[in-house]
Amino acid sequence: MKIIDRIQSGLTLSFEVFPPKSDKPLDPLLATLEQLYTLSPDFISCTYGAMGSNKGRNLEVVKSIQQSGRSEALSHYTCVGNSKDDVLAALRDYESVGVENLLALRGDFPAGAMQTNGDFSHANELISFIRSRTDRFSLAAACYPEKHLLAESMDADINALKKKQDAGAAFLMTQLCYSVENYLRFIDRARKRRITLPIVAGVLPLLKKDGLVRMTLSNGCSIPAEVAALVGRYGESEESFRTAGHAFTVSLVQRLIQEGSSGIHLYTLNRFEDVANLVFDAGIRAKA
Ligand code: FAD
Repeated sequence: MKIIDRIQSGLTLSFEVFPPKSDKPLDPLLATLEQLYTLSPDFISCTYGAMGSNKGRNLEVVKSIQQSGRSEALSHYTCVGNSKDDVLAALRDYESVGVENLLALRGDFPAGAMQTNGDFSHANELISFIRSRTDRFSLAAACYPEKHLLAESMDADINALKKKQDAGAAFLMTQLCYSVENYLRFIDRARKRRITLPIVAGVLPLLKKDGLVRMTLSNGCSIPAEVAALVGRYGESEESFRTAGHAFTVSLVQRLIQEGSSGIHLYTLNRFEDVANLVFDAGIRAKA
C-alpha cells in the first residue's frame, strides 16, 4: 500500500528504526519491531547509511517489516555513493521484497567527504530519476523546519524543497524540531511558496541530555529556551531528565497534532518502552 493513501485518510503514527551493521545480528531489532507492531503503526521507516555509516542490513529490515503484514515499510535511500545502475538495482531489490515506499534523500556524507560520489547530487535529481523509470514506488522527501544546515537561507532551502515536490515527491517528513513556533513558521513559508504536500512531523523523544545535545547540534537544529532549562535543571540526573523530557515530548506531540500535522513520526532509536509511553500519554493510541 502507498503510505500517501494512509496519510490522506487521517493522522498517521509511524516509527523510524536503524538497521544493524552487516556483521551484526538482526534478532534484537526484530524483537523490538514485534513490540512496535503492537502500537499499530501506519508505517515504519528504516534508515540507510545515516550519519555516514554503511547501509547495513537495511533491505532485510524493510523486508521483515513489509512481510510482517502488520505495518507498511518505508525505506530510506540516498544519493551517497550510488550510480544510476545502483539505484535501478536497489529498486529491483525493494520491489522483490514488496516495498512500495521510499524516502529519497541526498544522504549524510561519510567523514571527510563533501560530495555524494554518486550520479546524483541532490534528492530532487534522485526523485526525478526514479519517477522517470517507474511509478511502482511512492516517494517521500525530507524537509527542515529550521532549514538544512548547509542551506544559505530558509528561502533557498524552501526553493530546494519545491524542486522535490515538482520532481514527484508524494509527502514530506521533517527533521527533528523542538520549537513548535519554528515549525509553524516553516509550514507557513512553505505553503506560501505553494508547497502543498502533506507534512509528517519527525520527533526525537527527549530522553537523554547527551543524545539531545549531540543530535540537535549535528543536525543544525536549535535548542529552545524551554528545553535548555530542562537541561540546566535536570541534566545531572538521568532519571529526572528522562521524566521531564517525557512530559515535554508528550506536550510537543500534542501541539503538533493540534496544529494539523499530517502524522507523527517517532525516531525510536530502536527502543520500545519510552516510545510506547509517549504514544499512550500523548493519546495517539490507547493502552490495550
Ligand atoms: P537535498 O534535498 O539534496 O538538500 C541538501 C542541501 O542542498 C540543502 O541545503 C538544500 O537546500 C540544498 N539543495 C537541495 N536541492 C538542491 C538543488 N537542486 N540545487 C542546489 N541546492 C540544493 N541521511 C542518511 O544518510 N540516511 C538516512 O537514512 C537519513 N534519513 C533521514 C530522514 C529524515 C526524515 C531527514 C530529515 C533526514 C535524513 N537523513 C538521512 C539526513 C539527510 O540525508 C541529510 O540531512 C542530507 O544532508 C540532506 O538530505 P536531503 O535529502 O534533504 O538533501
